[in-house]
Amino acid sequence: MASREVRPEPSLIRVRDFAAGAGQVGYVAGPCSVESEEQLMSSARAVKAAGATGLRGGAFKPRTSPYSFQGMKEDGLKLLSAARDETGLAVFTEVMATEDVDLVARYADVLQVGARNMQNYRLLEAVGKSGKPVLLKRGASATMDEFLLAAEYILNEGNDQVMLCERGIRTFESHTRFTLPLASVPYLHRRTHLPVIIDPSHGTGHTYMVHDLAVAAVAAGADGLIIEVHPDPSNAMSDGYQSQTFEAFAETMKRCRKVQAAL
Ligand code: PEP
Ligand code: MN
Repeated sequence: MASREVRPEPSLIRVRDFAAGAGQVGYVAGPCSVESEEQLMSSARAVKAAGATGLRGGAFKPRTSPYSFQGMKEDGLKLLSAARDETGLAVFTEVMATEDVDLVARYADVLQVGARNMQNYRLLEAVGKSGKPVLLKRGASATMDEFLLAAEYILNEGNDQVMLCERGIRTFESHTRFTLPLASVPYLHRRTHLPVIIDPSHGTGHTYMVHDLAVAAVAAGADGLIIEVHPDPSNAMSDGYQSQTFEAFAETMKRCRKVQAAL
């Protein structure tokens, strides 16, 4: 169902003012984790002012270590929902477990399935049944065929609002946290009608690279970006080393829009 042979025209996914696909580029930004009302609201206002149409923020966090901050859970979802009410931004947030899908769907506009859960087939079926748009992140060791078959699990439940997110893969290289293949954009566009979103934050793992890779992704034809932005990256509770400041994000937005206009 994801194949271009089934549907030759590119799919457009629209949630509030966020639109991705068929020539529209959707910009999602915000903190890795929701940490407090002040942190989330200031981020939401800043990314909206810079031109983003989606707000990201994790309330359920899949952390590599069980001793790291695990997220604010439902309190975080409530803050996201309040941020949406004030700014109108579409809320993107991760759901980690099948039993949390109903809860997260009550607050979120788009359900994010994280890289670590790309092959959690019961979760894919559950988000498929939720009727909410889904941002499916590529597993760090998943092939393109596995990625597309994971999307198929969601589509097969009658949910055609699926966005594919390239967030970098595991390679032998260690100068970046993951290796971000921008070739995924033209490749996936050839194979599927689904919008392709690039995550230059997790894809590089270094704040200083985020701007250049974001701009390059738009130049490569990406249908959207998802970028980590924090009011005080050096004191972030997660992923500060790859988060942009408000000012840096505003610069990135400006340049991406220029590139978009020049395509
Ligand atoms: C995230 O978006 O904060 C995240 C945990 O991403 P990924 O699932 O790609 O690691
Ligand atoms: Mn993160």
